Amino acid sequence: MRQYFFLVLTVSVLILGLAGCEVNKATGRSQFVPLGWDWEIALGAEAQPELAREYGGSVQDPRLVAYVNDIGHRLARHTVNEVPNLPWEFTLLDSDVINAFALPGGKVFFSRGLAARLTDEAQMALVLGHEIGHVTARHGAERLSQTLVAQLGAELAGSVLSGQGGWGELTAYVVGQGAGAYLLKFNRDQESEADRLGMRYMVMEGYDPSAIRDVMRILAEASSGQRQPEFLSTHPYPETRISQGNRLLANEYAHTQNNPNYGRFADRYQRQFLRYLAELPPSPDIDGFALMRPSTWCMHCALGE
Ligand SMILES: [Zn+2]
Repeated sequence: MRQYFFLVLTVSVLILGLAGCEVNKATGRSQFVPLGWDWEIALGAEAQPELAREYGGSVQDPRLVAYVNDIGHRLARHTVNEVPNLPWEFTLLDSDVINAFALPGGKVFFSRGLAARLTDEAQMALVLGHEIGHVTARHGAERLSQTLVAQLGAELAGSVLSGQGGWGELTAYVVGQGAGAYLLKFNRDQESEADRLGMRYMVMEGYDPSAIRDVMRILAEASSGQRQPEFLSTHPYPETRISQGNRLLANEYAHTQNNPNYGRFADRYQRQFLRYLAELPPSPDIDGFALMRPSTWCMHCALGE
């Protein structure tokens, strides 16, 4: 029972909202996040392997793994003043699904299906930076705390209190409730915020942020025909995201345009990544569950959701 005591205590704190609001250093925005970073890191680490499995596992080719990790860790370095010491991990999923998403606490996923559609390193940096932004902005915890406050009272808290729950159950809850609880839809404001953070981190690392235009076009093509009105969608339209990006390119990041210090690195992407990606055997067939399930943690291609 002892291990549940901490859980029950923390849940009580969460429900009572004793932790209150705090200003997020990445966004400068005050947010209600009663779950501490320790929780986010633990939940992300716990859910990471299962989520990767669900998407066909991770690509093992060390050249591809190194390439994605190099970009990811170089970008994540720029977050240390916002969030110290997160255990960043960048997983290239062996899946043709076009997707990228992040779990709280620094676990980022990138599908080979999306990687294969990109044409330069700056585009990959934008997507990775966007996912890093979801983590540093604590979007997952923000959503999770809302959901937990709403739902916890019932079955989860009940099972924990009766001594039958715990980490295993919480994790199952987290991973299994695609449509519901944990792998939640980020709302449109959060997507825009993650775009802004992604652009900031990539610029700090010397990438040309105009890559956002290409990425949004690629995602729009990938989701063509599935569109519903923007106000019903969890994601802003790609056109909306492009115009937000264009505004930043014209103002805050005007200095990066036509500036050789900010590159796209198309050759390197071809030489050190795409060519090895093309050598991989086909992705394993997954059962379609992941493909069908739109509400992963962050699903950029689910524009018609
Ligand atoms: Zn996102």
